[in-house]
Amino acid sequence: MEQQKAQHRPRVLIFPFPAQGHVNAMLKLAELLAMEGLHITFLNTHFIHNRILLHNDIQACLSRYPGFLLKTISDGLPDEHPRSGDKIMDIIDSMSIRSKSVFKHMLVSGELGSDDSPLVTCIIADGIVGWFTTDIANELHIPIYHFRTIGACSFWVYFCVPNLIDAGELPIRGEEDMDRLTKRVPGMEKFLRCRDLPSFCRVKDLTDRDLVSVVRETHQSPRAQALILNTFEDLEGPVLSHIRIHCPKIYSIGPLNIHHKLRLTDIETTSSPSSSNLFEADRSCMAWLDAQPLKSVMYVSFGSIAVITKDQLMEFWHGLVKSKTRFLWVMRPDLVDEDRDKAQIPKELLDGTRERGFMVGWVNQEEVLAHPAVGGFLTHSGWNSTLESIAAGVPMICWPYFADQQVNSRFVSQVWKIGMDMKDVCDRKIVEKMVNDLMVERKEEFAKAADELCTVARKSVNEGGSSYCNWKGLIKDIFKVEN
Ligand code: UDP
Repeated sequence: MEQQKAQHRPRVLIFPFPAQGHVNAMLKLAELLAMEGLHITFLNTHFIHNRILLHNDIQACLSRYPGFLLKTISDGLPDEHPRSGDKIMDIIDSMSIRSKSVFKHMLVSGELGSDDSPLVTCIIADGIVGWFTTDIANELHIPIYHFRTIGACSFWVYFCVPNLIDAGELPIRGEEDMDRLTKRVPGMEKFLRCRDLPSFCRVKDLTDRDLVSVVRETHQSPRAQALILNTFEDLEGPVLSHIRIHCPKIYSIGPLNIHHKLRLTDIETTSSPSSSNLFEADRSCMAWLDAQPLKSVMYVSFGSIAVITKDQLMEFWHGLVKSKTRFLWVMRPDLVDEDRDKAQIPKELLDGTRERGFMVGWVNQEEVLAHPAVGGFLTHSGWNSTLESIAAGVPMICWPYFADQQVNSRFVSQVWKIGMDMKDVCDRKIVEKMVNDLMVERKEEFAKAADELCTVARKSVNEGGSSYCNWKGLIKDIFKVEN
């Protein structure tokens, strides 16, 4: 009887783009779906799979969900190909060309299933590889949902890029044109400048590969059964209304990290949540944080992909040290974009940091942001980091690196007013001033705004909240597709 029931369960294939922020969010989604009794196949590229296995026992964590399978596929690039900085964009094209037929074969052959649920009955693909996955799903008549790990605000800007081009608003005409307001992204006419458009728009040649890829992939989402977004109605309701004209069925179910934590508490698991960290987290900073006063520490991290130059490193460091604020800085081994030896953190930096700062290679970011000593986040404005900061009620200084981050930082400063935007500037005096503003001069104002937004975020995933209701709707939809 139990086995019969299991056979009727849908098997959902989750297919993330192979980058930390994407895998993180989609693994949380996968676990949430597994908790609803769905059978899951999580498909990683070999590169990501090997990195994850190096650092944690993900398989053991996931074994608590019956029918949860981890499978792998090649991204089509040689092992030695760099997969950080703007090289990450090579993966989209490589997968569209080289992984397509393998993906189809894996679906047809049944190797993505198990004995009791051999067939994939539904696909949730990362929308940034929406083109080839949707082609294959449609060909095989498998329902496909798109999940995007960016905010609705950036999705909508990507979607509107063809309008900007048709109206002659792109290409941007040099530095003097950067502060011009754009007029062809409905709902954002009053505050979105050329400077705030996704980094891919900063090209003279509108046939630029990265720009074309991102716009092409975003325009696949109306072909999907529905679009799933890691956001919530109270944060991005107006933008979601614009997207719904083109993608009528949207499930906004975020912030996923709060949702995930709540459900884990519901099932009262004693084991720790699965972690998809590509680097080993160093927990030594937690004891240091314990010894710092309430909301006194600026947490500094530029995520998993961004790279900075040695000069930029020095500007940030001098600005932070001069600000007199305490700081915890994630210095990823490949953060500095220079020859490894030259890029070693200079000794004077380490010595000069000891008094009020702590440097670490990688942390458990959610744990750090939730620590009472953390009062601000100097971030590259990746969408996961932005949402995790909102979920922890921590105001931000934004220094966007690329892609959607330019849009996110504008929303943080101008729309949600929970931080400041330092985009396109890297100067020790400005760093010092902004850190002082956020942590001292305007501390109350930002802390209050961040606190209020955090409360709203939490309400959305609690019973009766918009993300909670959308989640229930999504589950019903997936089960309906099967029957
Ligand atoms: N992260 C982490 N430890 C760190 C730095 C980052 O766990 O030291 C996680 C962070 O919590 C987030 C992800 O890495 O979930 C980064 O995703 P985001 O979208 O912010 O940026 P990306 O790395 O994709 O540029």
